[in-house]
Amino acid sequence: MEIESMQTTPSTQIVKIKTAYGTLDIGGPQFSVLAGPCSIESHDQFLETAKSVKSSGACMLRGGIWKMRTSSKTFQGLGESSFDFIKSVCKETNMGLVSEVTDARQIEEVFDVVDMFQVGSRNMHNYSLLKELGRQNKPVLLKRGFASLIDEWIKAAEYVTNGGNQNVILCERGIRTFETATRNTLDLNAVVYVKKNTHFPVIVDPSHAVGIRALVPDLAIAAAASGADGIIVEVHPRPKEALSDGPQALTFDDFKTMMNKIERVLTALDRPLQKATLV
Ligand code: PEP
Ligand code: MN
Repeated sequence: MEIESMQTTPSTQIVKIKTAYGTLDIGGPQFSVLAGPCSIESHDQFLETAKSVKSSGACMLRGGIWKMRTSSKTFQGLGESSFDFIKSVCKETNMGLVSEVTDARQIEEVFDVVDMFQVGSRNMHNYSLLKELGRQNKPVLLKRGFASLIDEWIKAAEYVTNGGNQNVILCERGIRTFETATRNTLDLNAVVYVKKNTHFPVIVDPSHAVGIRALVPDLAIAAAASGADGIIVEVHPRPKEALSDGPQALTFDDFKTMMNKIERVLTALDRPLQKATLV
């Protein structure tokens, strides 16, 4: 106990996400909400979502271009055919974008479309992908493998930082446990652990953690209360029509209501909400 109280807590590094529309700080005093569809499905679906989440307080967009689906028979993402309209949606809404690269060969291809690279849960152990991201000058959002130890997750982050790219944000997105009532189990232990023991900012993905729309907002609020630096949440204009992860997608109204509650928690914690910044 004595020894524990003598340990110092490393202060969280601020990762700067430079977008054409301003710079976002993750890991500082502000709490950040990244939101958007699981998959980018069309120009209209993405634009509609972008406008709505921005007006409710999101600072950055998310959206899958290449999807790592459990079944090869399901929608795999629009890939490069969507690049042009994605850029136009980001420009029209003045929002930056985080999107997953599933293969090192996609990094160069998508470099000008995204402001931060996401590494998905299934690729947390893809060390050649991590090493390649370590050579880039864009931040990396590293999701925790759903069956990975906290220690393995931190070591995966070091594959990126060892290459020179220090801009890594960790994302807890739920782990597989013995429980099957929910899609995964949100490990808030991991959030407070990495905040105390590493310098990496950490955000929470309540959508994949629980997999059930009605339960996402309460976990998002718990994430804010736990001291996470932000959340990344799936939102869809018509979740029933979503080509991936519809059951966990929030409607625009759900998202707005959740944001109001999160803002009240943040006020109590004296933590401002980061707004999408304009140049
Ligand atoms: C996603 O963000 O849509 C996704 C596939 O997440 P994960 O890698 O955490 O399953
Ligand atoms: Mn998803």
